[in-house]
Amino acid sequence: MNAATPIRVDNGCADVPVLRERGQREVFCGLTGIIWLHRKIQDAFFLVVGSRTCAHLIQSAAGVMIFAEPRFATAIIDERDLAGLADANEELDRVVHRLLERRPDIKLLFLVGSCPSEVIKLDLSRAASRLSQQFVNKVRILNYSGSGIETTFTQGEDACLAALVPQLPATDATAPASLLVVGCLPDVVEDQFARHFQALGLGPVQFFPPRSERAMPAVGPNTRYLLAQPFLGDTARALDERGAQHLAAPFPFGVEGTTEWLRSAARAFGIGDAALEAATRIPRERAQRALERHRQALEGKRIFFFPDSQLEIPLARFLSRELGMTLTEVGTPYLHREHQKHELALLPAGTTLSEGQDVERQLDRCRAAAPDLVVCGLGLANPLEAEGLTTKWAIELVFSPVHGYEQSADLAELFARPLLRRRLLARESVTAEAPCN
Ligand code: SF4
Repeated sequence: MNAATPIRVDNGCADVPVLRERGQREVFCGLTGIIWLHRKIQDAFFLVVGSRTCAHLIQSAAGVMIFAEPRFATAIIDERDLAGLADANEELDRVVHRLLERRPDIKLLFLVGSCPSEVIKLDLSRAASRLSQQFVNKVRILNYSGSGIETTFTQGEDACLAALVPQLPATDATAPASLLVVGCLPDVVEDQFARHFQALGLGPVQFFPPRSERAMPAVGPNTRYLLAQPFLGDTARALDERGAQHLAAPFPFGVEGTTEWLRSAARAFGIGDAALEAATRIPRERAQRALERHRQALEGKRIFFFPDSQLEIPLARFLSRELGMTLTEVGTPYLHREHQKHELALLPAGTTLSEGQDVERQLDRCRAAAPDLVVCGLGLANPLEAEGLTTKWAIELVFSPVHGYEQSADLAELFARPLLRRRLLARESVTAEAPCN
């Protein structure tokens, strides 16, 4: 692929009808986002106001998290009646005071709501503003919901960033145009993108969320923003309300997605395709070469996506266009047509798209399709493996660095590995059954 020539598309799946389902769903709640958010904003603390279940979820999603100074915790609110609400507020205040006295390094505290009824009765936004007044100029205290009733897996990040946007400093109309990259990225990926923008002569560029509360980017009418993640609908709306302008593009997964994403920024800053070609040629060609060996493993294989991370559509585009995989069904929890319009146009015409979930019906469709690989949540993976299907855990795609040229081959490998594992297991069982002679 040459970056001097923008990709041409027919209409792909831009206008295809989407199968919409509402029923039982199998996804994690938005608390899960704390696992990657706390690593990114290094002076922030996430206090989940929830139950023992919530505490277990974030502990187990994070693996073994016994740090000397962790950056998330759960304030457990036990069952109580309405008369006990005043106590619950006092208890929350006490927990926050104790935490902030012991941890003066915390500059940004999120009170994260959950779904037990005792927590729903608490007004966390009022608690956040009450506590903010008590810690004025010392700690910024905000709230958002990670409740499983309101959010799926990746929406926790969206809710967190949307709560931060009104807090960002303002630029005025005379400020020079600047680029804001929106969405939590591992530091190593952020540094790679910063180098690409520098090579393009494009700037100033800022990333949101930043690594520190002290580095919050300013926004205003001269801010152009690129979404790095496809699940940031509320954050984008909050940025629009601040006057910032969205740059529509495919998402930066794979060589093609990364090039088109960079192209969108380059064009907004008056940088032409020839300059893009020159600035990206070396990493692009390196990534294309690295993808080749995974193409051999993945080409022609059939893949089925259950809805989970909201990365499904961009990943399906990458797998079909750059690795030759066949898409049987691409499910997504929510479909933001505007943010995904470039992605949809790049999907092969006729792809089955579904939004939401009725898990039993979708399982039936999956079994009938008999795909080579199923991308799904942890709850479905084990039963499907037991039925002989090969699965990939969607959660790993969010926890791993997968954006940009340098990670394209790693992203492909995440899909190739389960197929290889299945092949090795099949070979072992044939060897084990062979007569010893
Ligand atoms: Fe469970 Fe709700 Fe807590 Fe998530 S927020 S762990 S769904 S109780």
